Amino acid sequence: MDIVVSGIRSTGRLHLGNYFGAVRQFLGMQRTHQCYFFIADYHSLTTHPDPAALRASTRQVLIEYMACGIDPGKAVIYRQSDIPEIPELYMLLNMHAYVGELERVASFKEKVRKQPGNVNAGLLTYPVLMTADIIIHRARWVPVGKDQEQHLEMARNFVQRFNRLYGTDFFPEPYPFRQSDGQMVKVPGLDGSGKMGKSDGEAQAIFLSDDPTLVRKKVMRAVTDSGPTTENAPIADTISHLFQLLELVSPPDVVQHYLDTYAQCSIRYGDLKKQLAEDIIAFLTPIQEQIKVLEADEAQLKRVLNEGAEKARQSAGYTLRTVRELMGFNT
Ligand code: AMP
Repeated sequence: MDIVVSGIRSTGRLHLGNYFGAVRQFLGMQRTHQCYFFIADYHSLTTHPDPAALRASTRQVLIEYMACGIDPGKAVIYRQSDIPEIPELYMLLNMHAYVGELERVASFKEKVRKQPGNVNAGLLTYPVLMTADIIIHRARWVPVGKDQEQHLEMARNFVQRFNRLYGTDFFPEPYPFRQSDGQMVKVPGLDGSGKMGKSDGEAQAIFLSDDPTLVRKKVMRAVTDSGPTTENAPIADTISHLFQLLELVSPPDVVQHYLDTYAQCSIRYGDLKKQLAEDIIAFLTPIQEQIKVLEADEAQLKRVLNEGAEKARQSAGYTLRTVRELMGFNT
């Protein structure tokens, strides 16, 4: 059975970008594939080294994963830091990763621009750790958003290099799991300037735990343009973020209504925003109810992480033993 791996950095709460970029695809796959879902707590060190926040947000991410429907009865859910084989594989892979190729990664260049005071080696080798996360279970599919496309391409490079160097086909090349239309998802932020994310300001992201008042406030403040002036014009880039969000959370007839009124130049963005806010709230309500239930069930959270770590270590242990053997270390 094909193996699937996905993870989310434990820097705070999940937002709609995480949900539609990674979690939603995983929900379908956990029924048909052998799935591993992890909380990437080591990854968060590259930007947020704060022990108390790390502890709290790791717990929060676990709760939110499960509230979305990731089922520990079907998928293995674990914390990255519970699996010592991951950093060992990361170290081994680092020996075959070139500084030049890592320096060319777009997300590294962006971080150098955004946090010039903290350009640490972990940032540079982020794609190597991500590769270790994936291939530790010899995964073939990775449900990720479009922002991770380049990292996955690098993961395939590292896999090819490893297999070639050691004359093996032990590691399959991992590919992004795409939607039925072949596209990778990119959820835009409310400010229309790029992707929804945690690092570019809280106001442009809708978090799964945002209450209805906050959702309405954020959506009503979303950036718009001055409206269409010619009939049947394609949706302008300056407003496409709101249409993309509408398509994710609203029924097709609602989306069609706003597409029609846009085409007829009779659209009122205030109405569109109100509708979008209510549809986001309706989408979030059952998830938030589950979050409340899980927050009160400490015993279950502990059990899930303990059992997940045990199962993930079985698979990771097998990989590491094989890798050490292939590389010529005593086993
Ligand atoms: P991160 O929060 O950066 O650790 O991302 C975790 C997962 O969510 C990765 O698979 C990302 O590709 C996905 N993701 C994060 N933000 C977005 C977004 N705005 N659109 C689509 N996918 C996203």
